[in-house]
Amino acid sequence: PQLANQIAAGEVVERPASVVKELVENSLDAGASRVDIEIDKGGSKLIKIRDNGSGITKDELALALSRHATSKLHTLDDLEAILSFGFRGEALASISSVSRLTLTSRTAEQTEAWQAYAEGIDMAVKVMPAAHPVGSTIEVVDLFFNTPARRRFLKSDKTEFTHIDEWLKRIALVRGDIHFTLTHNGKMVRNYRPAVNEAQYLQRLTQVCGRPFAEQALKIECQHDDLRLSGYLQSPWSNNVSDTHYFYVNGRLIRDRLVNHAVRQAFAQKAQLEQPGYVLMLDIDPYQVDVNVHPAKHEVRFHQARYVHDYILQALQSALEEAGE
Ligand code: ADP
Ligand code: MG
Repeated sequence: PQLANQIAAGEVVERPASVVKELVENSLDAGASRVDIEIDKGGSKLIKIRDNGSGITKDELALALSRHATSKLHTLDDLEAILSFGFRGEALASISSVSRLTLTSRTAEQTEAWQAYAEGIDMAVKVMPAAHPVGSTIEVVDLFFNTPARRRFLKSDKTEFTHIDEWLKRIALVRGDIHFTLTHNGKMVRNYRPAVNEAQYLQRLTQVCGRPFAEQALKIECQHDDLRLSGYLQSPWSNNVSDTHYFYVNGRLIRDRLVNHAVRQAFAQKAQLEQPGYVLMLDIDPYQVDVNVHPAKHEVRFHQARYVHDYILQALQSALEEAGE
């Protein structure tokens, strides 16, 4: 099983940013409203995620580190949803097989916290009492210490940290309700405070995408039958070349030419911008999209691509028209 976990780790754990992604997604699944991320040396020395979510019971601690142990499978419908999000109960087992992992947690029902420790050794998990408020802290130390080839493959600390920072930006834009902090080598570099109203969200947009984009961006809000599009579009009067291109489908970041095309077409007569910036969220019936089974690819296929494209185009066009008046 040790080898199986390391093979699985190759798929789940490519670099520190993929560890951060898996762990933060777990925190969000656990209903956390605050997630603190601490990184040392680009994540090769330490990745520490602390959340105030529901926590893990003492009995489930060791289990959480074993392969295919997921608490998120209940019905067939769940299975489909989970597969599409890549939730397969492999992340913790995979990460622990290539690092020294400590999991400390307390649930609201428990008076004490408990800690499980695993070190590249399959399931030789020790559980001890510990001190922790309700929620969980996962510490991943010396990532890839036992897979030297993979450790050598890591880029500079700065590059690895940039990957983490970029990933956090993506999630911070779509989860305004969550307070995120990011610390590197002891210094807090991001503090995304909860954004529950529009003014606060605009602050977060400024933090993540920069003032030139956020200050003049047009708000998009459009609801029609089973589709909803919301977010922000670069102002047609701004000439900044924007690198803000975020498109989410049902909360997941997607790379799709469809939205780029619609944005460009909406701007066709308005500006000479090559590719205007946007942060757009599309909510659609999940049965109208196929999510690529490989979650890292960030791709989807819309059953009615033309319809979705035209819907986005129209929403953007009417926002541009309104702004023009
Ligand atoms: P999955 O997320 O696919 O279920 P993981 O390996 O990522 O698999 O996690 C295994 C299990 O550990 C989860 O199903 C969940 O029950 C528990 N778990 C992991 N992280 C947390 C967390 N931060 N808070 C609460 N439970 C967690
Ligand atoms: Mg998970």
